[in-house]
Order: sequence, then structure tokens, then C-alpha cells
Amino acid sequence: MSTLKAVRGTRDLLPPETQLWNHVEASARALFARYGFGEIRTPVFEATELFARGVGEETDIVSKEMYTWEDRARAASEKAQSLTLRPENTAGVVRAYIEHKLGETGGLQKLFYLGPQFRRERPQRGRYRQFWQIGAEVLGPVSSGSESPLRDAEVLEMLASLLDELGIRGWRLELNSVGSSTDRPRYVAALREALTPIKHRMCEDNQRRAETNPLRVLDSKAPEDQDLINSLPKIADFLDDASRDHFQQVLAALDACGVSYTVNPRLVRGLDYYTRTTFEFTVADGSGLGTQNALLGGGRYDGLSEMLGGPKAPGIGFAIGEDRLILTLQAQASYDALFRRHFDIYLAPLGKEQNAYALSLAQYLRNFWRPVLRTKGFHVEVGEGNFRLKKSFEVAEKLAPVIAILGEEERAANLIKLKEFAGGEQRVMTKEELVRYLSQNDPTLKVPGETYTDGMHEVSGRHDSVNKS
Ligand code: AMP
Repeated sequence: MSTLKAVRGTRDLLPPETQLWNHVEASARALFARYGFGEIRTPVFEATELFARGVGEETDIVSKEMYTWEDRARAASEKAQSLTLRPENTAGVVRAYIEHKLGETGGLQKLFYLGPQFRRERPQRGRYRQFWQIGAEVLGPVSSGSESPLRDAEVLEMLASLLDELGIRGWRLELNSVGSSTDRPRYVAALREALTPIKHRMCEDNQRRAETNPLRVLDSKAPEDQDLINSLPKIADFLDDASRDHFQQVLAALDACGVSYTVNPRLVRGLDYYTRTTFEFTVADGSGLGTQNALLGGGRYDGLSEMLGGPKAPGIGFAIGEDRLILTLQAQASYDALFRRHFDIYLAPLGKEQNAYALSLAQYLRNFWRPVLRTKGFHVEVGEGNFRLKKSFEVAEKLAPVIAILGEEERAANLIKLKEFAGGEQRVMTKEELVRYLSQNDPTLKVPGETYTDGMHEVSGRHDSVNKS
């Protein structure tokens, strides 16, 4: 029988690599909290129409990359419906904003999300069919200040801080303004006109784009077309005064925060909903990403809520490609210190009669609160009573600095025989002594089972709430 494999373009994430994923996610969550963002979780699939209207029918995502199916009705009261695995999360967040009338609170909504997205792309390193995004959106009624250039700069500064905090080296922020919803059609018309006499000299892809979505021609990396593309009109010349002023204010705030950037007049990004500020963070060589060097992208979408039938709710957001962030970190730095391969102790029961004793000792060691380290107990691995002592030593030595030998005698006396692999005598101790031995770096430790005085009351070392205070 043939063996089954993960579907092309999808992959399993395994330990210890998942520790790096958790580290990145925990860092992002902590940072978002400092900037006042709350988490939103939207469904992984939505009505196809949401993406057709929100992302745009003519985009690559909607026209060829979505996983869409006709969902059959299960009851007479239901209708069959076209559903799609989300290819991105902004449309879902804005749908939720409208559905839950978040705008009626009057305040600015700052929402972040974290989760898998799905696009039927040609898989390669850094490009998958199921990939992960960490993103955030800031939106609200105009009166909440959602249109302010300060919001754009705040989001960009937050991203710069996150990349720095994670230790990403050599990132580059490129940004542009694609103008308001009235500037953009004027520019697209001019682009069409400029493309008409020259498009036949372009590659096939660009000939098609020139017809269906001329802005996408600007994204093209086709080397033979670069000179022609650079000769096309620039969006900057089509911005009205309000858009130009908005963009200048974003740049001024970035300057004040010391965030470096490059203005790239060709950065228009593929999705239809962007207005005014658009941006991308890329990483240079040494990132391990090759051509897929865009770490994250985003921009303003002042008209998206209305496109989806909602109230006016200008906003700005971004999505970080988490897979690419991880690949970059792996290429740029050693994260070995994060990967905890070691246990504090290995428990070796001698004979199956000692298995239960070993497990109850493991329970005791793993499950009490250590206030200074803010951790629950110790990292403990338990062997198996049927192992010969020699085998237990061989296994234990790879996993932990010490082994506890739990024989018939130790169980009967409720004791532990401890041996350090680095040398030294075997020592016999109580479990309280063992806790103290394992916590040499934790001066405030209260050993479970012992009582202490805190000056006023007698407290027990056993209880979580006492130890947390
Ligand atoms: P987008 O929604 O296309 O603006 O993408 C935002 C970010 O998500 C990109 O900068 C990439 O880092 C990441 N991304 C997009 N598509 C993929 C993919 N197929 N595989 C991995 N990451 C992706």
C-alpha cells in the first residue's frame, strides 16, 4: 500500500522548530498588547463573495489561487453556497467589524490575528499553499481618528520594533502612496493609455495585466520589461493635495521615530482595496528566502468596509508571512538556546513495581509554582521499570544532567537515590531535599510539603496561591 503524505504545498511543523514559532507568536502577542491591540479570530472559511468583493475579481488571488467549493445544503431550509478557504484575513476582519457593529462603539478598533491562510500557488521555498500570517488592523469611524497618518506611522513603527526585537537583520521598509479612491482611477486610466502603444513589446503576462489590471504591471519582475515599466507615469504625480499631505505626514512621523524607509513609486501591491499608504518589508541576502523576500505587506483600505456593504470605516493593516519570518530567523541566527532539549532530571524506576512511585514523584516535581522563574515546577522525564539500569543510564545521560534511581528500597522509605552524570557520589535524599537540590538558582522557592513563616502567618509551600504572592 502506498503511504500517505502531506498535500503538496502544505507541511508539518515539528519540535524543536515549533518552539521558534511559539517564541515568535508570544513576542508578537506581547508587543501587540503594548500597542493596545486585542485578538480577533475569524473562521477559516467564508462566503466566496467576500473575497470576490473585498480582494477583487481581477487579482491573482481571486482569479486563480482560491480553494473554493460548492457547499451542499444539508436541509431543505438551507441553500447550497459557494465557500472559500480564506486566502488572507483582512476581508474577514472587516466583515466581522461590520457584522458585530464594532463601529457603533465610536472608538478605534485595534485588532490582531494569527492563523493559516490558503492560496493555490506554485510551491517553493517560502511559498506554500497553507501558510501562516500574523496580522493586525486598525479601523473605525472617521471621528475615531482612523484616517490619521499617525495610525499609519504607528503601525509601521510597531513592525520595525517587532522585527528588531526578534533579531531580524537587514530588513528594508519600502512604502508608497497609491492615492485616494478618486486619485487611483485617474492614475489607472493614465497607465492604460501609456501602456496601449507599448504593451505588445512586453512579456505575455504583462500584456494580459495591461488589459485586466494595469497596476499589476508595476509589480512585474520580468527583466526584459523593466525599462518600459520605469518609463510609465508615476502615481505620485496623480495624488491630490490631501493624499500628498497625508503621505508627507506619515514620512515625517517615521523620521521622528527614527524608522528608516525607502519610497518606492512602483509599490502598488496586488489587492484592489488599498488606498493611500502601501508598504512592504523585505529582507536582503542571508535571509534564506531567495526570491520570496517579502516578509510582510500591508496598507490603508479606506473604502473596504463600504465595498462590503458596511459603514465608512477607514483603516490600515498588515500581514506578516510567519513562515518567511521563521525561515529568516533560522538563516540569520542560532536559536539553539531557545530549544529546550534537556530535562532537569530523569527518573528511573527499577522494576515495574516502582512505576507508580516514579510517576507520582514526577507529578510532584512537575506541578508546583516557581515564582522567580515564573514556571510550573521542573522538566521531568520518566523512564520505565522494565528498563535495565544500564539502559536507563544511557537514555538519561542524553536527556538530563542527573538521574534519580527509584528501587524497591527507595520506594518503601519514600526516598530518592540521585546520581549526577558530571561525577560525584550517589546521594540519597527526600523529595523536599531533591526540590532544593534542583532549585539552586531559585532563592524564593517554597518547597511543596514544607511550612514557612512569612513574618506574620504560617504558610504552606504546597499551595499555588501562596507561592505566587
Ligand atoms: P499578501 O497578503 O499577499 O500581502 O501577503 C502578505 C505576506 O504574507 C507576504 O509578504 C508574505 O510574507 C506572506 N505570504 C503571502 N503568500 C504566501 C505564501 N503562499 N506562502 C508563504 N507566505 C506567503
